[in-house]
Amino acid sequence: MKLIGENCGVFGIVKDTDCVEDIYRGLDFLQHRGQQFCGMATYNGKRIYQITHYGQVGNTFTPHELESFKGNTGIGHVSLNERQPMVWQGAVGEIAVAFSGNIINSEALLEEMKDKGEAFYHGLDIEIISKLIMQEKNVVTGISMLAQKIKGAYSLVVLTQDGIYAARDIYGFRPLMLGEGSNAFMVSSESRAVQSSGFKCTRDVRPGEIVFITKKGFETRQKLKSPRRAHCAFEWAYTASMDSKIDGLYVQEARNNLGKSLAERDIEEGGIQADLVAPVPMSGIGHALGYHMASGLPYQEVFLYNRYADRSYTQLTQEDRDRMAKKKLSVLEYAIRDKRIVLCDDSIVRGTQIREKVRELKNAGAKEVHVRIACPPLMYPCDFGISTRTYEELLARQYLSEGNITTMDELKALEAWVFEKIGADSVKYNGLEAFVAALKIPKEDLCLKCWDGNWPMGSGLDI
Ligand code: SF4
Repeated sequence: MKLIGENCGVFGIVKDTDCVEDIYRGLDFLQHRGQQFCGMATYNGKRIYQITHYGQVGNTFTPHELESFKGNTGIGHVSLNERQPMVWQGAVGEIAVAFSGNIINSEALLEEMKDKGEAFYHGLDIEIISKLIMQEKNVVTGISMLAQKIKGAYSLVVLTQDGIYAARDIYGFRPLMLGEGSNAFMVSSESRAVQSSGFKCTRDVRPGEIVFITKKGFETRQKLKSPRRAHCAFEWAYTASMDSKIDGLYVQEARNNLGKSLAERDIEEGGIQADLVAPVPMSGIGHALGYHMASGLPYQEVFLYNRYADRSYTQLTQEDRDRMAKKKLSVLEYAIRDKRIVLCDDSIVRGTQIREKVRELKNAGAKEVHVRIACPPLMYPCDFGISTRTYEELLARQYLSEGNITTMDELKALEAWVFEKIGADSVKYNGLEAFVAALKIPKEDLCLKCWDGNWPMGSGLDI
């Protein structure tokens, strides 16, 4: 069975001087998008060289490696479950390829390509993508052909001897930002790696756009027809770092708005008797701050984040994520004794992590814990490259095995069921309408499949 868990990040840079340290730093700033594998590839004027590692960027690249690795142009990758970039030789010349996303029809493509005589190492998505590009005589035609064949989501970087191609699928599921500095140009899955490198964010790569990056700057080489946008709404609520900006919307602004929306619902429904509002760090911080701003309740940290723990969401299985969640937060007892707490988090998958957090707070002396969740109840797995959730893992699916939560009454009935399951004093989610309104991006430009089950590319996706 193919693992759908390719939450990952890509990076690329072209400059007049050596870029290895820039790639290293850029990947470090994308580490939250995947911690199992990391890698980079550079062109040193003669050849493309590549290194990949099992583990995190800061722990695996040695100073010796970084010193001996040279090049003014290069790409990098952090990943949950495969080594990238991969280097290839073909009619397009020597290239290195890395991508973030997921190919839904990979098995069919693999069979089709094998039938035509193609050989694969492991049949990974990155091999399929690379080979589709290499079937053509130039990279732009290769990426255009790939866009016609692939069903799924991808943000892609291709290193060549002349520069870097950056491309986003025609729906724009996964983010991809261009940036510029002094005689240097950059592309990154998230704007934080651009800004933190001292570069200016130029703009997002547009859905279906193929950009060529050289020392002269950015050049749009092709704009593939985009039937609609389908930006992953979960990026703003959870996946992206809170110092990033995606498709014109700051992640922190989105999280503040989602928290405000939760507070406004509480106020509309008669208010809440509580002493403080607190986040489940890290992604809960923006939501809790928004709740604090709208409700006037004091904001307080109640958990200390263990900076040495891996991010729980980018573990391979839900069990791993639960285990990591236990390791990553400890209770700040002085802040919570005899307090009534509004606890904000991004989403509930199985409910095990939030149940554990509620239990820990109560054991440490909290009087009440009211859970507020920024995302609507998760009803469907993601097929576009985020996490390994399955139907069986989703708590809301245990309550409603078919269909969706569509009305406020249905949402309230689910909340009443969930609050008992997790041992909280109350639970509220943002409904889907409130969630979209808080993001302030037109509904038709978002992927909301986690919640409504709708395929952004229509119902004709035969998988
Ligand atoms: S299904 Fe959910 S996580 Fe996946 S791309 Fe759509 S909104 Fe994002």
